[in-house]
Amino acid sequence: MISCQGLAMTYSEGTLRTPVFNGLDFAVNKGETVAILGASGAGKSTLLHLLGGLDTPTAGEVFVAGQRMNSLSDRARGLLRNRALGFVYQFHHLLPEFTALENVMLPVLLGGRGSPPVKEATQRATALLESVGLGHRLNHKPGELSGGERQRAAVARALVNRPACVLGDEPTGNLDEKTAATVFELMLALNRDQGTSLVMVTHDRRLARRLDRVMELHEGKLRQLPPGEV
Ligand code: ADP
Ligand code: ADP
Repeated sequence: MISCQGLAMTYSEGTLRTPVFNGLDFAVNKGETVAILGASGAGKSTLLHLLGGLDTPTAGEVFVAGQRMNSLSDRARGLLRNRALGFVYQFHHLLPEFTALENVMLPVLLGGRGSPPVKEATQRATALLESVGLGHRLNHKPGELSGGERQRAAVARALVNRPACVLGDEPTGNLDEKTAATVFELMLALNRDQGTSLVMVTHDRRLARRLDRVMELHEGKLRQLPPGEV
C-alpha cells in the first residue's frame, strides 16, 4: 500500500547538515495498522512527511498505491496524495471559516477531474460525520466544536476520499486521555471497516500496543519491537 526503499533524509540549511536517517526500508500492507515510536527528534515526522509526499527525500524511493512518488510531477503527486492518502495531525487544521460539513467535503471537491460531484461529496461527508458522532454538528464551524469534536471531524476529513492509507502524526496527542482514547478507537474502527491502512506516530505505548505492528525509530534505524518490549 505504502512503502519506501533506501529512504534517506538530510536537512540542509546553509552549511548546516542534519542527517535524520539513511537507508530506511519499510512497507505497510493493505489494512495493516502500524505505530511508530521514537524519542523527540528521532525523525518520526520526517518519515511521515516523506511517506506522504509532503517533502522530497535526499535519496531513496516512496511508493504509494503502486506509484513511485518521486517520478510524478508535482500536480500528479498532489492528486495521488489527495486520493490515496489521508492525514491526521496533532492539531486539527480545519479551516475556521467553513462548517464541519464543508471541511470534510473539501478533499472530495479538490480531487480534480473525475472526482465525485458536490451531491455525492455532501452525502459522503454527512455519512462520515454521522459515523464519528457529529451528525448534529454538520453546520457548526470549528470554533463552535469541542477539542474532541474537532479532531473527530479531522478524522472524517482524512477518510472522505476512501484513502488506501491514513498517516497520523500524533493524532490524539493534543487531547485529554479519555478523548484521545475515543478518537483512537474511532480511527481503528473506521480503518477496519474501510480496509484502510494506518501508520501512526505516537508517544503513547498503550495506544501503540493496539496496532498490528510497532516500529521504533532510533538513531536513524527503524526496528520492529517485539510485543514484550512495547
Ligand atoms: P520527531 O518527529 O521524531 O520529533 P522530526 O522528524 O521532527 O523528529 O525531526 C528529526 C530531526 O530533523 C531533528 O533533529 C529536527 O531538528 C530536524 N528537522 C526537522 N525538520 C527540519 C527542517 N524543516 N529543517 C531542518 N531540520 C529539521
Ligand atoms: P469531547 O469529549 O468531544 O471533547 P466535550 O466534553 O469537550 O466533548 O464537550 C461536551 C459537549 O459540549 C460537546 O457535545 C460539545 O458540542 C459541547 N461543547 C464543548 N465545547 C464547546 C464550544 N466551545 N462551543 C460549543 N459547544 C461546545
